[in-house]
Amino acid sequence: MKIRFCGVRGSIPTPGKETVRYGGNTACIELTGKEGTILIFDSGTGIRTIGDRLAPNSPLTIHLFLSHTHWDHIHGFPFFIPAYIPKNVINIYGPPHFDKTLSEIMAQQMVYSYFPVNSDELSATINYRDLKEETLQVGEFTVKSKLMNHPVTCFGYRVTEGYISIVYTGDNEPYYNFMANSVVDDSEREEIEMIVKEQNSRTVEFAKGVDVLICDAQYLDTEYPTKIGWGHSTTFHALDLAIKAEVKHLVIFHHEPSRSDDKMDELLQYTIDKCNELQHKGLKITAAIEGEEIDL
Ligand SMILES: [Zn+2]
Ligand SMILES: [Zn+2]
Repeated sequence: MKIRFCGVRGSIPTPGKETVRYGGNTACIELTGKEGTILIFDSGTGIRTIGDRLAPNSPLTIHLFLSHTHWDHIHGFPFFIPAYIPKNVINIYGPPHFDKTLSEIMAQQMVYSYFPVNSDELSATINYRDLKEETLQVGEFTVKSKLMNHPVTCFGYRVTEGYISIVYTGDNEPYYNFMANSVVDDSEREEIEMIVKEQNSRTVEFAKGVDVLICDAQYLDTEYPTKIGWGHSTTFHALDLAIKAEVKHLVIFHHEPSRSDDKMDELLQYTIDKCNELQHKGLKITAAIEGEEIDL
């Protein structure tokens, strides 16, 4: 499979000279299989470039997996040209909300108050699939979804093709005891601790042994105390998961919008140094760069 990073930024696009090396488009990853099946993970603004490149090859069948429906993971979709070409088929998979289907959520960003084209005016056939934790076969890929910890329903995805596997976490913060400072009795505290431990072990199991772990690592450890509960990991959380899951290559993803290229270099070096301090040899660590590809 080939991984292409088309948008690597979290929260909001960040054009400008300070971010030109790592890139300013929001979350979007393209996977191409050996038989040509195209999977796209998230439709941040990075999806526009995929659409422009693929549109001349229409008719196309494209599988778009959304981790969740926060703006930075869907706001590129109205600019995805293949959606406007008849005979194209776009299968969109992702989490519904408790009161809305995925199709209803996606339609809401394309009402006339926000965008000149309504979602039911798109010429391509758009099929929506509300996901739960499950495993799907899509062409040569097996795609497994897992709920992650974020302020809205959010899936991580494990994708396997033959002997190669990758995990994309989507937006994720490790589970923690949010009642730690509350007055609760010991048995309640123990119960919460057990749930936290169990949920974090499930995430490790999900990423176990993958070739590439593309992991939300928006914050530095020093920034985290004021961001607890925002639903994102630190570089240490990402490193910890990569080590426990014994992955081969950790790719830091969902870069903080205020982080310049030079600061990204520092963040990456800090993570590599931390890994060396822990004497964990053999783990490759990089930070996702827009336009970069990994061939597996
Ligand atoms: Zn995000
Ligand atoms: Zn989010």
